[in-house]
Parts: sequence; structure tokens; C-alpha cells
Amino acid sequence: MGKITGFLDDAREEVSERSPAERVQDWEPFHIPLHEEQRRRQGGRCMNCGVPYCQSGIIWEGRGFGCPLHNLIPEWNDMIYMGNPSHALSRLLKTNNFPEFTGRVCPAPCESACICGMYGDAVTIRDNELSVIEDAFAGKTIKRRRPPQWSGKKVAVIGSGPAGLAAADQLNHRGHSVTVVEREERPGGLLTYGIPNMKLPKSVVQRRVELMTDEGVTFVTGLDASDPAVAKRLMKEYDAVVLCCGAERPRPLGLETDGISGICYGTEFLKAAVERQQFGKSPEVPSAEGKNVVIIGTGDTASDCVASALRQKCRSVIQLVRRPREDYLKNGELPSDYAHEEALSVMGQDPRRFGVQARELSAENGVLTAVTTTDGDVIPCDLLIAATGFAGCASAVCEAFGIAYDRTVRTAEGSFATNVEKVFAAGDMRRGQSLVVWAIAEGRTAAAEVDEFLNGYTNIVRSL
Ligand SMILES: Cc1cc2nc3c(=O)[nH]c(=O)nc-3n(C[C@H](O)[C@H](O)[C@H](O)COP(=O)(O)OP(=O)(O)OC[C@H]3O[C@@H](n4cnc5c(N)ncnc54)[C@H](O)[C@@H]3O)c2cc1C
Ligand code: SF4
Repeated sequence: MGKITGFLDDAREEVSERSPAERVQDWEPFHIPLHEEQRRRQGGRCMNCGVPYCQSGIIWEGRGFGCPLHNLIPEWNDMIYMGNPSHALSRLLKTNNFPEFTGRVCPAPCESACICGMYGDAVTIRDNELSVIEDAFAGKTIKRRRPPQWSGKKVAVIGSGPAGLAAADQLNHRGHSVTVVEREERPGGLLTYGIPNMKLPKSVVQRRVELMTDEGVTFVTGLDASDPAVAKRLMKEYDAVVLCCGAERPRPLGLETDGISGICYGTEFLKAAVERQQFGKSPEVPSAEGKNVVIIGTGDTASDCVASALRQKCRSVIQLVRRPREDYLKNGELPSDYAHEEALSVMGQDPRRFGVQARELSAENGVLTAVTTTDGDVIPCDLLIAATGFAGCASAVCEAFGIAYDRTVRTAEGSFATNVEKVFAAGDMRRGQSLVVWAIAEGRTAAAEVDEFLNGYTNIVRSL
């Protein structure tokens, strides 16, 4: 505990944000980090609780509580206050392979478990985490770590989202030769093709992939492992296979859409936006530019679609939310996220309409023109985006490897092994649609099980 009276002396300081009107003009990050002195004060507010709930990482009555990675939060908060960045970094990297991702996009269940928050405001744990890793990259104190010797064992990790990257990183550091197989042109999974650049810059993902490559991991992109011939070859050539293919199957819209253009799923829209904006591609999924956009659904995906449509200069954007407004109120107020603030500033109104669903679509010559809602409103619409959630993992890849699955891959309780010898599964593909922090925890824990399978023992600590 750096400063004994820190939590009494200093208040929580939030990172500031660029104004909504300014930031919708570009795709750059909108958070403005705290200065070093402010961060030290925040580190000094940590009370080093006897039982640090912030790092507990448990599910309590269906809600995540504390850090699923069991990050050693009080320790690095202390080091931030004491001005010992190298020790803060080494304690942070003990439990989290990629703090530069979680420090940007994690909803921070650690902060809702922070005891300081019971009597005032929680410690700014997530921002402290981000500062430790970003200072290390900026100061070039992140050094490449190659294993001292190789085990001679080969592991194929299928999918390069946070779960696959975490599994690959752990297994590589244990000396196994790891090849990450990715269907898309670039690694990163939803870190690259889902979460927009203003929340997680693509250069941050690329920086980590380059470091991992330098440390010995091989990335093979543009290879679809659901092709039975590819799956067969991987099974023959590798000592273990870890499937981390996400939970990409979207929940169907439930409307008659046959023969109507101008409709896509939220993940398709966001992927196309990234490809167009960051990688100079011309994807088939249309841009929202000049269009009346209706987004169905709520949650991260729907918000990211609102924010991306605004940046593409849509004519209007409306978000249909099935549940009533009252269901979302906190202390009598309706919480807004970054996208809703932006819509309010550009369009002059909150884009959300609560307690309604789309009932029917209208089209002219096969082109979408309007959405009729359950309360009878006819909303002009040239682009309908369904952010209606996820129905589970893709079946083709499970079938190619012969593994048992229903909504997600079936594994025994507490295990990551599938029903097929030497095939493991982790991340959203096993857990269902979740969060980056859980995907990293899954990848790390699957790596421990794979290491034990290959070596007969492991010294990788399980996160879960
Ligand atoms: C729009 C959106 C916004 C989100 N925002 C947040 C957020 O702000 N904070 C947060 O914590 N979480 C967020 N999430 C959730 C988070 O991104 C996921 O929980 C996390 O990425 C899951 O990681 P994963 O590695 O299991 O799968 P993914 O990230 O989905 O990666 C799976 C990878 O497997 C590859 N793959 C699939 N099939 C094959 C195949 N047959 N052959 C080869 N490769 C294959 C895919 O191309 C992909 O690269 C968001 C999700 C979405 C959709
Ligand atoms: S990973 Fe998420 S839950 Fe864990 S310390 Fe960081 S912000 Fe908190």
C-alpha cells in the first residue's frame, strides 16, 4: 500500500474524452490518458485490502465479479505510486498476456468489486493497467522473450482472437513450436475485425502480433481450418490442436428478408468498416454513407455499429431495443455509452427507441426502403443492421475436426479437452459470446492443459 491515506486524500479522476462532435469526424481513439502524476495519485488510492475482491474473478449470481485473470492489482497499483514501473510491469505480465487490449476495452469487473467503490469511487484500475503496459512499450522496456530451449512438440492454434493469441503466447513461452492458423487476411479476431479502431487501434493489435512473431510464434493467415483436408493435415502434423474460432454464428433476425438488399449483421458491417477504413479494401457489405440506418439490438455490437455509421456520415440512425427503457435505468437514470453521446451530438437525439421491435420490412425493386415497428411506426431505412446477438460457434470447423458441440464446443466441466484426442477448445467457441478478458483467461488455461498433455506436467498457472 503506497500511500496509507491515499483513499482518504484523493478522489477518483476519470480519463477525459475528446468531445463527441470532434471525435465522430475520425476513427482515432477518443480517450485522453491521465498524466503521470494523476496516475500515481490513483495508484495511491488502492487500499491493499486484506481480501482484494478486485482480483477475485468469480461468477456470483450470474454476474462476473473481480478480474477473471486474477491480475495482481494491489501490487502494481503500489508500484505505480512508488514509481517502480519495471516491477509493476513484471507483476502485470505474470497474469495478463495482453494488458494493452484489456486496458482499452475491458468493462473492468475489477472496479465494480473495488472496496473503495463501496464508500466512494473505485480506483481507476483499468487505466492504471493500460499506463503500465503503454509506458513499457513507449520506453522500449518490453523485451522479446524467446524460450531458452524448444520442446520439440508442435501445437496448432486455430483462430487468432484473444483466446488463440493467449494460448499461443503461453505455449510458445513453454518452448513448444506454435503455429496460429487464421482464416482472415490479418490476425486478431474480433480485436481486428470487430471492435472499432476508436476503441482499440489496429496498430496495437499488430504491434503485439509482431512481438509474438519475433518471439517464435508462426502466423499462417488466409487458411480456413473448416476445410476437411486442412483439418486432416493439421491433425497429422501437430502434437496438439487448440480450437479458438469464436462464437460467430449470428442469431437470426426473424423477419422475411429473402430477395431484399440493404440488410446485414452487425459483425459483417463492422468488419467491412474496418476493411474499408483501415486496410483500404472495397468490401461488398455497404457503407452507411448517406443512408437512413436502423440498428436492431443492444450491447457492444449495436453501439459500435451506431458509432461506425455516424463516422461513415449516415443520414440518420435509429436503434431499436426490445426491452423497455425501465429495464436499463440505473438510479433512475438511463446510462449512455460513447456511441449514444455521439448520436446525440450529431443527430440531436438519443438513437435508442425502447420496447419496440421490427415487425415488417418494405422494399422497392428488391431494395429495402422502410422498417415497420411493432408500435406501427414506419421508419425510412436503406440499411438495416442486425446486432441481435450470437447463436454459438460455427459448425463446419467442429465437424472438420469431429468434435462434439451444441451451441458451443462440449468439454468436460473445468476442462478444455474435447472428445477427440489431442484437440482442445477455448474462448468464445467454448464459453459462448463473452469478453476479451475471459477469452484471454480461457486461452491461458487451455494452454496449461495442453502443456500438461504434452509434457506430463505443467508450470503454467491456470486462470480459471
Ligand atoms: C462488435 C463487438 C464488440 C465487442 N466489444 C468488446 C469490448 O468492448 N470489450 C470486450 O471485452 N469484449 C468485446 N467484445 C467481445 C470480444 O471481442 C470477444 O469475446 C472475444 O474477441 C472472443 O475471443 P475469441 O478469441 O474467443 O474469438 P474471436 O475474437 O471471435 O476470434 C476467433 C478467430 O477465429 C478465426 N476463425 C474462425 N473460424 C476459423 C476457421 N475455420 N479457420 C481459421 N480461423 C478461423 C476467426 O477468423 C477469428 O479470427 C465485442 C464483440 C463484438 C462482436
Ligand atoms: S483485465 Fe479487466 S478486470 Fe482485469 S484488472 Fe484489467 S480492467 Fe480489471
